[in-house]
Amino acid sequence: MMCYTDWMTLVEKDDGRADELWVLTDEDLWLVGKTLKVRFLDDRIPAWPNDGRGHITEEEILKIANEWHQCGVEQGKDVVPEFVPCGADDTADIRVKFIVDSGCPRSKVGTAATRVKAGDPTMWLDLKSPDNCPSLYKRTIRHEFGHALDLKHEHQHPDAPPLTDPRKLKEYLTQRLPPAEIDEKIRVQWAALARGASQKSKYDKESVMHYLIPEVVRANKYVGPTELPIELSDCDKTNIVLFYSKDTGSGTDRDDGPGGSIVDDSGENGSKGNIKPEDFASFPRPKLVDLINIVGVRVKVKWRSIGLGLGFKDWELNGIYATKCRELDPPQECMTEGFSQWKSGLKSEYSWKKLAEVLVLPAVNEIELSGSYVPKLTNKK
Ligand SMILES: [Zn+2]
Repeated sequence: MMCYTDWMTLVEKDDGRADELWVLTDEDLWLVGKTLKVRFLDDRIPAWPNDGRGHITEEEILKIANEWHQCGVEQGKDVVPEFVPCGADDTADIRVKFIVDSGCPRSKVGTAATRVKAGDPTMWLDLKSPDNCPSLYKRTIRHEFGHALDLKHEHQHPDAPPLTDPRKLKEYLTQRLPPAEIDEKIRVQWAALARGASQKSKYDKESVMHYLIPEVVRANKYVGPTELPIELSDCDKTNIVLFYSKDTGSGTDRDDGPGGSIVDDSGENGSKGNIKPEDFASFPRPKLVDLINIVGVRVKVKWRSIGLGLGFKDWELNGIYATKCRELDPPQECMTEGFSQWKSGLKSEYSWKKLAEVLVLPAVNEIELSGSYVPKLTNKK
C-alpha cells in the first residue's frame, strides 16, 4: 500500500524553543515499568472530518499507544511504561490536546514532559487520515507515544545513511518556513543525533519513528523507507524493551567508561555515590584540557543542560551553536566553546565544585560522572 502524507504531517513542530532543546540534550527515560497517567484535555475527541468513521475513543487511542507496553509483556519483561487514563488531573504525566484546524502532531520526548507547566499539553494529536492512508492516525499515535517514551527520530540515528540532500532539504524548508527557523528546524528534526543511550540499536528504516523522506529532498542513493512506516517494526518491538531493561543492552556500542552513565532511575533519588559537590571545594581551578577530556567528551550531548546550569542564557547557547553547527562534531565543539567561555568567570564560579553541582542537577543527571573525576584529579595532584 502506498501511503504518503503531506509535508505538514511530516514536519512536527515543537511548542517552545527552550523545550525543543531538551529533545537533543537529554536522555529522558521514565522509571522502568512506571504507570504513566494520561489526561485528555479536550472534553471530547474531535471527529475525523469527512471520513465517516466518527469518533475514536480514549480507550482506543491508549490501546494503540500501549502496543509499546505490550512489547514488554509479550517478551516476558514488563518494563515498558503503561499508559493509563486518568480524569481531570493537572499532574497527569502525559497531557494530550487535539489539533482541530492547523498544526502538527508533536510530543515532548520522555521525561521532558515533566518540565511542562502543570495543566499544559505535553502532546498534540491530529488523527485525521487521508483516503490514501486510512491508517495514518494509528501511525501518529504510535509515533507520538513513542516520543513520550523517549524515542527519538530514527532518521536522526547517528548511523543512518545519508537520507536527504542538504541543499534540497534547505530549499524545501525555505519554501515553507521563515528563514530564521530553518537551521534550527534542521538541527532539531533532521540532523543526526549525537550517540547516546537511545541509540543502542542499529538504524532501522522500518521504525515507526522514521519519517518518510519526501522524494524531492532525498539523497542521491536514498535507501530509507519508500512508504510511511505505520506499524511498530520488529526492531521497534525489541528495542523498546531493551531501552527499558536495566540488565541488558546497555552500552553495546558506546563508550561506557566510569562516567558514561546510562540513564538510571536510581539516580532520581539523589546522589548514590558518597562524593558530594562540597567535596570539590578544595580542588584547584580546573584546567580547560581536563574539563574537556574528563567531562566534556563523555557528556557532550548534554552540553546545553550543562551550559544552562553553569549560568549561560538560552540565547547565548544558541549563539554558540550557530558558530559551531557546521563543525564535524557540533556537540563536542559547543561543549568546548562553552567551557572556555565559562573559564572567563563571568557566568558562574569557575571551579570543579560548581561543575559537580551542575552534573547532579536532575536535568543533567550525571551523578556517577561527578564522582568519577575525583580519583583522576587526585592522581594529578
Ligand atoms: Zn516525531
